[in-house]
Amino acid sequence: MTIKAILSSPAYNTQTTIQGWVRTFRNEQFIAVNDGSCISNLQIVVDANSLNELDSKRVHTGTSIRVTGVLKPSLGKGQVVELIAEKVEILGECNPNEFPIQMKKHSLDFLREKAHLRFRTSTFSAIFRLRHLLSFAIHDYFHKNGFVNIHSPIITGSDAEGAGEMFTVSNFDLENPPRNEDGSINYQEDFFGKHAHLTVSGQLEAELAALALGKVYTFGPTFRAENSNTSRHLAEFWMIEPEVAFNDLNDNMDLAEDFLKHCIRFALENGREDLEFLQEREATEDKQKPIEERQTAPLIERLEFVANNTFERITYTEAIDILLNSNHYKKKKFKYPIEWGIDLQSEHERYLVEKHFKKPVILTNYPAAIKAFYMRTNDDQKTVAAMDILVPGIGEIIGGSQREERYDRLLEKCGQFNIPEESMWWYLETRKFGTCQHAGFGLGFERLVMYVTGMTNIRDVIPFPRTPKNAEF
Ligand code: ATP
Ligand code: MN
Repeated sequence: MTIKAILSSPAYNTQTTIQGWVRTFRNEQFIAVNDGSCISNLQIVVDANSLNELDSKRVHTGTSIRVTGVLKPSLGKGQVVELIAEKVEILGECNPNEFPIQMKKHSLDFLREKAHLRFRTSTFSAIFRLRHLLSFAIHDYFHKNGFVNIHSPIITGSDAEGAGEMFTVSNFDLENPPRNEDGSINYQEDFFGKHAHLTVSGQLEAELAALALGKVYTFGPTFRAENSNTSRHLAEFWMIEPEVAFNDLNDNMDLAEDFLKHCIRFALENGREDLEFLQEREATEDKQKPIEERQTAPLIERLEFVANNTFERITYTEAIDILLNSNHYKKKKFKYPIEWGIDLQSEHERYLVEKHFKKPVILTNYPAAIKAFYMRTNDDQKTVAAMDILVPGIGEIIGGSQREERYDRLLEKCGQFNIPEESMWWYLETRKFGTCQHAGFGLGFERLVMYVTGMTNIRDVIPFPRTPKNAEF
């Protein structure tokens, strides 16, 4: 049986077998075992009959064991049930002098170096159970709302988006690739007959599907070779991209807000124990930090607040005015300059959500020049129908827009952004054959997991993070 099943409804006085890993072994009598099914351990009570002296020397933190015994109400404090062992089998030994994960507190940096073993800690098992729950919540939400899940390709032949930050996919011998007369690499000879990349987004393909299936979403890995070594960027991350035919920017905002709230509520309802554990962990960590860096409210309270309050909606232009009129700006506390037209820096975004509004904010209608070519031009001709959702502690969690559905306008934008028409012919054709208003957005899955778990480094919410100079494991 799993420990989760036992703890949720213990079948007292019946014989039960469990398997798991030892967390602690106290007084030659009590073994705390965890099997990953939940945050709690099961207490095993052993004696000389169930665990002989020789074997008892082999029980350490990390040892895997199988225990058969009878469940009894526990007399000790800290648990309601315990397993009175009849037989303890040692399945896999764990040398305490070599096993790096001990019961003492390890730093997250240390555990990142031991990513193959960090699942064994309560913190990381809680994070990855919550990550699973959120993934499930996402499929649940879209399925219930009539969306079709589209598997967009991971290898792409289009470099329309973020050309500079894409990884090349090739089976050339890198030492000696075929070359053109001018010395450049001849990608026509390559596997795909062209220069192929790992995708940075499944959006363009999702749009094609939405213009037939109506409501679709993608949920897959995306890759960005951006060399930004921040606590919020990975080179490989998972993105959820819904796309809906006939939606405008307002519909898009409504969908994004409802969707985020659903995911948060789902975690609150189904991942309570893990959230409580992480909340306590955060509170302990916070005590070591200067007051201004501490959380303003406990994790669960923050999540409940987001689930139960409407997001603030303002335009980019209004945001710039707020920033320019802030005391923070007047006291010259922003590092980067502020004027209409700038790409907002993380310090600006965080000021808006954390200091000014103290809640999630949806920023709309950005200057066209700082946003992607496919966003719909507004009537003012200066801005596009973009929307970014910013949340406290993280900054941007969602980026989306109403798409340019007018063929001529889109073609013009391709020209302005130096995107060759030949490479985008298939995308452009959707605007020729039954085009319609449509909108969508991209949610960075790891940013959502960070938000829900309260973890502050994105490397701690994905099992094996890929970042510059780091692809161990
Ligand atoms: P940022 O400004 O934070 O770098 P972006 O504007 O490049 O993000 P988009 O292209 O709009 O991001 O991607 C949509 C979403 O994907 C973002 O809102 C964010 O949640 C997530 N995201 C983007 N880049 C990364 C990354 N390198 N690692 C993890 N998540 C990311
Ligand atoms: Mn963005």
